[in-house]
Amino acid sequence: MARLALGALAATLTAGSALAGGEVNLYTTREPGLIRPLIEAFTKDTGIAVNTVFVKEGLPERVASEGDKSPADLLMTVDFGNLADLVDKGVTQPVKSAALDEAVPANLRDPAGNWYALSLRARVLYASKERLGDLKSFHYEELAEPKWKGKVCIRSGKHPYNTALIATMIARDGEEKTRAWLEGVKANLARKAAGGDRDVARDILGDICDLGLANSYYVGLMRSGKGGPEQVKWGEAIEVLLPTFENGGTQVNISGAAVAAHAPNRDNAVKFLDYLVSPEAQKIYAEANFEYPVRAGVPADPIIAAFGPLKVEPSQLADIARYRAAASRLVDQTGFDN
Ligand code: FE
Repeated sequence: MARLALGALAATLTAGSALAGGEVNLYTTREPGLIRPLIEAFTKDTGIAVNTVFVKEGLPERVASEGDKSPADLLMTVDFGNLADLVDKGVTQPVKSAALDEAVPANLRDPAGNWYALSLRARVLYASKERLGDLKSFHYEELAEPKWKGKVCIRSGKHPYNTALIATMIARDGEEKTRAWLEGVKANLARKAAGGDRDVARDILGDICDLGLANSYYVGLMRSGKGGPEQVKWGEAIEVLLPTFENGGTQVNISGAAVAAHAPNRDNAVKFLDYLVSPEAQKIYAEANFEYPVRAGVPADPIIAAFGPLKVEPSQLADIARYRAAASRLVDQTGFDN
């Protein structure tokens, strides 16, 4: 609370006449550097001051403990599972607007309007340029085929990125097919399922494995040099394919936001959401973090756009979120991480 009060004061001092438009209190788990340009542009456009509280961990608990006195207007975070948890905790409220309906595809927002995707990241295939350079398309299901025995690298099956992927497969194809897939991928592992997404590229360069699944934006971070000179080599060692489910699309996760249940500045929170999906803000997202804009027609960063057109898996994220516990259970039962 003290931090927010200070933030509000600082905004008063720096925003000056901009305060004519009032204010909005943003709780966010996202990097300050990523959202600062969005906030500045919004305040300049609307005269609404944005007071930001960075909450690294425990966002649902914090808002819940503040209760109906919470100053939070907008809650911003990554992973649709985290957004679903906010709804389950009762700290969100449904909102609707023509701008949000137009910009955010129906499967990438809560059907009741409790949260909306603002940007996307795809779970893509990293494949050795040297050894698999002729691979042109890929289905997630293929990763379990015996021909990849000893060639696959991937992080823990319990990490939220893989939980989301496995939960998507359960939502589409059921638990038994997903269990068989996990057993097949487990049998193909070149090393323990551990480490981070970028380690898949590192280990492909090191000839430990030939292929694996990881997030799209890490390719931008590696190849651009933002992750340091060593990672440029990792990024250049891989070919990136956008896999799809058989008869489906590419699995995506999101960054998104929800209006808080007791938002004192509810209307401004919706205005801020509307701004965040505008073409101008979507361009800032694409430039800042190698994410896919959620709004169609706004180009991704050239490194990301080079993977080809993204065809998003049409399953409803709010449904998939319900299979997260089942996904973790299957990972345990198949000994995927052992
Ligand atoms: Fe990440």
